[in-house]
Amino acid sequence: MAPSDNKFRVAICGGGIGGLVLAIAIGKYSDTPIDIYEAQPSIATAGAGFSLWKRSMEVMKELGLWDDIAKVSTKPPDKPHGPIFRVSDDPNGGYEWFKYTMSYGPSSMHRWDMMDLLQRHLPSTCTVHLSKRLRTFNATTPGDIRLHFEDGSVASTDVLFGADGIRSSTRRAMYEAAARQRHPLVDAVNVGEYADARWSGYRIYRYLVPSETLLEKYPGHPAARDFQMLCGQGKHVVSYPVNNGANINVASFVYDPDSIDKPFEGRWVEIALKQELLDSFENFEPEVRQVLELCESPNRWALHVVKDLPTVAFGNVAIIGDAAHGMAPHTGAGAGQAIEDAYILGRLLAHKQVTLERVPIALKVYDEVRRISAQKIGQYSSDNGFLYEFIHPSQLGRPRTTEMMQEWKEIIVELWERSIQSGALKTWYEAEMKLQELLALDRDMQGNVLPRL
Ligand SMILES: Cc1cc2nc3c(=O)[nH]c(=O)nc-3n(C[C@H](O)[C@H](O)[C@H](O)COP(=O)(O)OP(=O)(O)OC[C@H]3O[C@@H](n4cnc5c(N)ncnc54)[C@H](O)[C@@H]3O)c2cc1C
Repeated sequence: MAPSDNKFRVAICGGGIGGLVLAIAIGKYSDTPIDIYEAQPSIATAGAGFSLWKRSMEVMKELGLWDDIAKVSTKPPDKPHGPIFRVSDDPNGGYEWFKYTMSYGPSSMHRWDMMDLLQRHLPSTCTVHLSKRLRTFNATTPGDIRLHFEDGSVASTDVLFGADGIRSSTRRAMYEAAARQRHPLVDAVNVGEYADARWSGYRIYRYLVPSETLLEKYPGHPAARDFQMLCGQGKHVVSYPVNNGANINVASFVYDPDSIDKPFEGRWVEIALKQELLDSFENFEPEVRQVLELCESPNRWALHVVKDLPTVAFGNVAIIGDAAHGMAPHTGAGAGQAIEDAYILGRLLAHKQVTLERVPIALKVYDEVRRISAQKIGQYSSDNGFLYEFIHPSQLGRPRTTEMMQEWKEIIVELWERSIQSGALKTWYEAEMKLQELLALDRDMQGNVLPRL
């Protein structure tokens, strides 16, 4: 652990997966004091499942979380397994398209289990402040950032990390500050485009179905056992068991091509009628509809994404996770990418040579090693969503012949492979080398460090 003599205060805005892992990473490698400011009255998350892949699990292992995650994972996180892809809207009946067995299968779990274990691992140097929704921040003197909360209270910090999700207040305030200070990559006219998330055109219906209820009605139903991707024209359903098999996580995606890039009218998350869901999937095979029949009052999410940003760091402020690159979830990568951001940023900040004056250098390295790579993963995810639904530009006007289905399968698998390979451990070596290079440059310049807020 790095000594604290050159350290400073860090505020993390948002206590979701990214924010908590960031606090754990900083705490593992330094004794920097950390304040987490979370908008909600408790550390909570959607009542749904999610999966982590090898690259994210490597980080969790490094942070000492592996054993606890393995306990709440439906399948051991290091065994070969993976999703079964089916075509579910064929008029002649559904059929298996292909099975994609990964050499190192996904670790699927309920989100609450993950949040519980992350809270248990928070370092003693971390204080959590609940019901603190950041409105904006302003920097008065270098390193003294003023945080303004919706309840009227104010706090100060030396370094601010925004892990505040897709509607990030930190992202907005950071881009406004960058535009005011004429950041070369940020045009004041475009601040709104970076600050506001845009609607992807997808509505997602999410629900947890008790496995027992499904199996009572339909003994041996595959949804209680398999990770399934159930594909059809302009829509698909993802389902997999969570809570060690007690529940089935069901996410049903419906794409509306006419609405893309139009602002979404209405609440982003609301309770929908089951009939609306059933109507959307009326041409899907019976096994899919049997599961959807059990989704009483599902949550309907209007999926928003973040435009590719020209920077995720400015001065002593950086953003991570969905705040930095909110993406479509078609390769289940968003939380994994938040975890990788957190690991790299946490280690950079905790580096023993990073003093308060050098924080902007560390954040510049974070931007260089993480931003583009996370944006690429977002692009693969978005492409894969369209491919599952036969609406990718390369598929339009092409019938589902055996040859085409084989070709599309290969592209889907290739995009998955690119998404799940590599990872933050390798990136850390790259980051540390870049940091050393820039710090050496910094010393040569005798204190002429990069500009700060
Ligand atoms: C249907 C669906 C399925 C998915 N499946 C997967 C999957 O299988 N695997 C995967 O890796 N990813 C998956 N994702 C993506 C994943 O959920 C997100 O990428 C991940 O939750 C991002 O974590 P985060 O910490 O950046 O943001 P969040 O989880 O959104 O957390 C942000 C936190 O900040 C708080 N907050 C917000 N605003 C403020 C404010 N102004 N001040 C203070 N606090 C604030 C919020 O209350 C919240 O606690 C899925 C997403 C969807 C929609």
